[in-house]
Amino acid sequence: RDGGEQFTFQAEVTRLMDIIIHSLYSNKDIFLRELISNASDALDKIRFLSLTDKSVLGDGDTSNLEIKIWLDPASKVLYIRDRGIGMTKDDLIKNLGTIAKSGTSAFLEQMQKGGDMNLIGQFGVGFYSVYLVADYVEVVSKHNDDAQYIWSSTADGSFAISEDTENEPLGRGTLIKIHLKEEAQEYGTEAKLKELVQRYSEFINFPIYLETEKEVEVPVEEEETEEAKEDEKEEEGKEDEEEEGAEDDEEESKEEEEKPKATRKEKKKDWELLNDNKAIWLRKPSEVTEEEYQKFYKAVSKDYTDALNYSHFRAEGDVEFRSILYIPSFSPYDFYDKYYEKAQHGLKLYVRRVFISDDMKELIPRYLSFVKGIVDSDTLPLNVSREMLQQEAALKTIKKKVVRKVLDMIRKMAEAEVKCKEMEEKGETEDKPSEKECGQYGKFWEHFGRAIKLGIIEDTTNRNRLAKLLRFHTSKSGDKLTTLDEYIGRMKEGQKSIYYLAGTSKEEVAGSPFVEQLLRKGYEVIYFTDVLDEYVMGHLLDYDDKKFANASKEDLKLTDKDEVEKKKDKELKEQFKDLTKWWKKVVDDSKLQGVKVSNRLATTPCIVVTGKYGNSANMERIMRAQAF
Ligand code: ADP
Ligand code: MG
Repeated sequence: RDGGEQFTFQAEVTRLMDIIIHSLYSNKDIFLRELISNASDALDKIRFLSLTDKSVLGDGDTSNLEIKIWLDPASKVLYIRDRGIGMTKDDLIKNLGTIAKSGTSAFLEQMQKGGDMNLIGQFGVGFYSVYLVADYVEVVSKHNDDAQYIWSSTADGSFAISEDTENEPLGRGTLIKIHLKEEAQEYGTEAKLKELVQRYSEFINFPIYLETEKEVEVPVEEEETEEAKEDEKEEEGKEDEEEEGAEDDEEESKEEEEKPKATRKEKKKDWELLNDNKAIWLRKPSEVTEEEYQKFYKAVSKDYTDALNYSHFRAEGDVEFRSILYIPSFSPYDFYDKYYEKAQHGLKLYVRRVFISDDMKELIPRYLSFVKGIVDSDTLPLNVSREMLQQEAALKTIKKKVVRKVLDMIRKMAEAEVKCKEMEEKGETEDKPSEKECGQYGKFWEHFGRAIKLGIIEDTTNRNRLAKLLRFHTSKSGDKLTTLDEYIGRMKEGQKSIYYLAGTSKEEVAGSPFVEQLLRKGYEVIYFTDVLDEYVMGHLLDYDDKKFANASKEDLKLTDKDEVEKKKDKELKEQFKDLTKWWKKVVDDSKLQGVKVSNRLATTPCIVVTGKYGNSANMERIMRAQAF
């Protein structure tokens, strides 16, 4: 576009667009899903504002909260228009090009590693996917606070912004003009668009219309006769007159058969509603199919793979709400990296079907923020600000119930896994859970095991429930993971504690002198190898009345000693008194708390252990690495 102010894209955005526009990625379909999702977000925003100020909606067509899609086959331009909040000039500059989002570089990195283009929406840069199918894009937008502007770019590193003097006034909202590339002409047909909208956007909560052209047969004289009839009705308005009219029709159709030339085909354009935008969560669970749940998941989550599991329920009582909660199959790309900086709360809050916010940390605790889905409550007030809503006591009740539902869902997966394992060991097959159910928890643990551990640290109320979900290797678990309950089931008679040792690998821990004696005596030792494990154990002091004991600490007791053993210990202590004194002299006193004769070793002559209250060597290693 000539004229207008020129802007340069932020450097990473330029790289991103460059990759997209030259991409050979075959699934270009995703652009439509991303643009519709932006349109829907913009509609949610204006609808939310209208709760406290009706006037923001305007009147006439402008107040229709809808999305319209149409084509101009001659110029190969695809149009998508929403009546959402729109963008001011400043918004256009910032949102579409100059402000870097944290997801931009992360997405570039993923793409370099051969990641899937499909993930683009999750990184917060979905808009640019339009360049998969376009070589030139214009965004016309009208926000209530500004004039109508056009943003345009050919993805050559720069974009232009100018006040719009050429297009029809939008009233409010955004119109995206997509000039289709030569190799993306397939998107220039109604059939393709219809298929895509139905596939990806069925559960968008605003009506989506596509302009379709239908061929209709019109009798040549139609106009005349119709008019004549209307006139008659208006004048007389009597039934007998209409009957006469009907007779006329019959006569006419006879004539037509005799003279086929009298009909002609006419193309008529019309808006066809493509989605059933009734809220899926209002339906009975028994009436929603698995496929519909998965489609809805994709609409709310920006994920493109199926959810691992879901739960659809209705809570009754003082606080009423409906909810569909999903556990994704994969953890979001920055879930653990940005755990404390960025709260990504995947739950969307609705009040009486109206979208309120997808950023309510009052709805779900941080460690479960990977859960996606919706909560729709009739109890919460509708016409208050977000800040006031956050103060609502009902939110606490909702959060509590949501947490319980999520943990229930996880527990059931975990129990199914244990059951499958037991049945396999016994060779039983009757009433065995399906293969899918047997494998679900393994997948969950792989992606969200660390979230469960973080939960043990953060959620004191549910600590025990969460501990039940832990999976780890032990000296007796072989290649499989095991649970605390299974460990307890295998405990030796008289065994006081649950023993564990943390380190960098299973091999390292298993070969450590710290566990020598324990293993020789046949005690099972948990091998913790995740950096989080020792933090977790700092919070989880016992389980099922059994204390945890770190094998690298000084006070490790294997069993209660009898009198004979105690006497023997004393004798040994005396015998080696000189040696222990000598040790203290040769080693720097400030670094050593004490030297003791002990019977915790089997073949190794001596080891350095950690004091009862100090950090273990493993913990010190981790802290050094993380520069706390
Ligand atoms: P995301 O939707 O994850 O924020 P996108 O790259 O899809 O990332 O969009 C970037 C931003 O551009 C949006 O956050 C929004 O502010 C703005 N935007 C995009 N499309 C529209 C639209 N149709 N109406 C209003 N704002 C929009
Ligand atoms: Mg988007």
